[in-house]
Amino acid sequence: MSTQPQSQPSAWTTHRLLTWTTDHLGEQGVAEPRLAAEVLLAHAMKLRRIDLYIKFETVPTAEEVDQFRAWVKRAARHEPIAYLVGEKEFFSLALTVSPDVLIPRPETETLVEFVIDHCANQEISAPKLLDMGTGSGCIAIALLVHLPQATAVVTDISAQALAIAQQNAARHGVEDRMSFVEADGLELPKLRVPDGGFDVIVSNPPYVPVEDYQSLDACVKDYEPRHALTDENNGLSFYACLANGAPPALASGGWLVVEIGDAQRSAVTMAILDSGYWTFRKCVRDQVGGVERVLAFELLDGQDSPKIHHR
Ligand code: GLN
Repeated sequence: MSTQPQSQPSAWTTHRLLTWTTDHLGEQGVAEPRLAAEVLLAHAMKLRRIDLYIKFETVPTAEEVDQFRAWVKRAARHEPIAYLVGEKEFFSLALTVSPDVLIPRPETETLVEFVIDHCANQEISAPKLLDMGTGSGCIAIALLVHLPQATAVVTDISAQALAIAQQNAARHGVEDRMSFVEADGLELPKLRVPDGGFDVIVSNPPYVPVEDYQSLDACVKDYEPRHALTDENNGLSFYACLANGAPPALASGGWLVVEIGDAQRSAVTMAILDSGYWTFRKCVRDQVGGVERVLAFELLDGQDSPKIHHR
C-alpha cells in the first residue's frame, strides 16, 4: 500500500482500502467484514465511520495506513475489532473496552430497553438498580443515562473490569450515581443495600454451559474473558444464586431481570422459580435474532423481609 496522490487511479484511497480489506477479511471468515474494515479504517483515520463515505477518494497518511494494516492483520486472525480499537458502541453510547471485559452485545440492549420501560410503567421515579457482573458497565450506564434519577450499584469479580466500568461511567457523566463493588456474583447478600432495597436487579451472567465453550466462535473463546462467558458448569449457577440471594436486597415488589442464552428459557425459569421467592413476569425476545433473551421475575409478597421499607 502506498500513499500516492489522488489523481493516480491506483492510489490507495479509503474506497480501495475498504474494498480490498472487506474481501480479505471475508476470505478469512471474519463476520461482517465490511463493517470490520470500516470501523478499523475510521479509527485509524480518527474519523467517524459515516465520514468515510464523504472521504472515499482521500488517500490516508502513511501512519494511518500502517495502523490500519497492523489492525487488519490481527483482525484476520479473528481478534475482536472492539479490542483492537478499544471501543464498542452500545445503546448508542461509545464504551471503552479491553480484554478484561466482555464486549457489549447488541442483544443485551433488549434488557436495557425492558428495564427503562419497566421503570416508566411502574412509575419508579428514582430507581435503585443493582447490576451483578457489570463488566464494561454497559447495562448500568445505559440505564443511568436514560433514567436521570436512577442510581446503581455495580459489581464484578474483576477489579480490572470495574476500572473500565468506572471509566465508562465518567465518560458518560453518570459516575456520581454509580458505586462499584468488587464481588463474586455469588456473594450478593454481603452488599450494602440502600434504604428500602433495590427496585431492580439486572444481570447478564456467564451463562454458556462449559460443554459448549469450545464451540464458541474463535473471536469469543480465544479473546474474551472466560469467566464472563461460562460458569464452568451448566450455565445456570448464577441464576440460582441470584434467585436465592437477591430477595433480602430487594424492595417489596422488586424485580429480577436477566439475560439468558439461546434456548435457556425453561431451564433458567425453573432455576429461579425453584427458590420459591419469585413469580415469572415476562420473557422478551431480542430484536437482533428474535430469540428469547430476557426474563423478568417479581419478588413474591412477603419474601423481602426482614428489610424495612420506605416506599
Ligand atoms: N452472549 C454471549 C455469547 O454468546 C455470552 C454472554 C454471557 O455469557 N453472558 O458469546
